[in-house]
Amino acid sequence: MAKEDAADVAPDAQPQPVEQATDSPQQRLYNSRVVLTTYPAQLGIDPIPLTWGAPTAAERGPVVVSRNQDTFGKRNAIGAGGGSYCIYRALAVAIGALAPNHRPDFNMTQPTHEIGPFPAWSDPEKIVSMDPWGHATVEHYSDYLERGVDIRPTIAITQARMKLAEIDEAIEKGLLRRDGEVVTEGGELKVVKVASEPVWFLPGVARRFGISESTLRRALFEDTGGMYPELITRPDLKVFLPPIGGLTVYIFGDPKNIADPSKRLTMRVHDECNGSDVFGSDICTCKPYLVYSIEECAREAQNGGVGVVVYFRKEGRALGEVTKYLVYNARKRQEGGDTAANYFKRTEFVAGVKDMRFQALMPDILHWLGVTRIDRFISMSNMKYQAIVDSGIEIVERVSIPEDRMPADSKVEIEAKIADGYFTTGEVPTDAMLKEVKGRNWDEIAH
Ligand SMILES: [Zn+2]
Repeated sequence: MAKEDAADVAPDAQPQPVEQATDSPQQRLYNSRVVLTTYPAQLGIDPIPLTWGAPTAAERGPVVVSRNQDTFGKRNAIGAGGGSYCIYRALAVAIGALAPNHRPDFNMTQPTHEIGPFPAWSDPEKIVSMDPWGHATVEHYSDYLERGVDIRPTIAITQARMKLAEIDEAIEKGLLRRDGEVVTEGGELKVVKVASEPVWFLPGVARRFGISESTLRRALFEDTGGMYPELITRPDLKVFLPPIGGLTVYIFGDPKNIADPSKRLTMRVHDECNGSDVFGSDICTCKPYLVYSIEECAREAQNGGVGVVVYFRKEGRALGEVTKYLVYNARKRQEGGDTAANYFKRTEFVAGVKDMRFQALMPDILHWLGVTRIDRFISMSNMKYQAIVDSGIEIVERVSIPEDRMPADSKVEIEAKIADGYFTTGEVPTDAMLKEVKGRNWDEIAH
């Protein structure tokens, strides 16, 4: 194949400078023709084969998404690497802080722990929202890298220690012991961490939601301001790297135990709630759940099993913090006060839906980790439970946080969720009871 040149692959390209070019280095970054999109049969377009779900990394092929000059015609994926951070990278290039042709030095970046491969890695239906070989770019695709193809890992595996005031407290109370293995003498938790960016196999994602691939592609194009025209013009490219947040896995104990059915597994799947997780807001139970699950995971690891917390960047039920705060305001200001009876209604009035996390893609990471059974699932979410069970993973026991760990104001959320089908070992509240579950009044909030 001839060496591609961005200028040669764009029959529809035409000079479209936003501003008159100057001699600044930033202006010299790009040639004057903008390649708005590409087409399958276009001159110079020859994607590296990518067969989702192939038995080995080599047969599957690398995910190639870079528009770097040497890689442009070889791309086999739409979008950009880095999840939501692709925009910051674009900005760094624009202001001259990052050379557009910079190639990462992957020396010594390899995973600290081995995970997989598991059968699900080569099942095109089991994993559709991440690249199962995303951590092994250097290991499996070095020949491409050596030939100058710009490939980036989408998963990284490292290890660290955690120090949390709540864990100190648990040690103090004798709920957790310093064993030098899981909990150090200094009260730190040893943890293996996995960060993963989203990589979507579009036909698989569409099937997961029971919609057509073309509907999915059209919606992704339309509702992102026409951000990725190749969703429409390149039906031959089946993989899309969306500009959204990824996830982090925190593993307590030996990661090898996760896929070992003879070892017990405690797990929480947590969706980001910055206000509670980091800043301790008491309107919901997010942080208490997170802390309790870390404690339970560490305890399981100390007992010879393993604990896993998966942390998804899906702030405010994936509605975002602005929507979340608008809903908070409406909840506190509504007639009759903030009651559990109106909890979901207020979210729906503002956002149009009560939840956009759509857990259908969530189990992918569990299959990537080799999970086949969860002994203790720390969550009351019926949606998470159902998604996991429907994906073929057994959940033995569902565990909610002890009553005394729930902040008073979070009762509104909790009772509304239980009435909506969330898991409880207690009573399911009636409509009349929900009206009685009230949160703090607006006036009580100090300004
Ligand atoms: Zn929360």
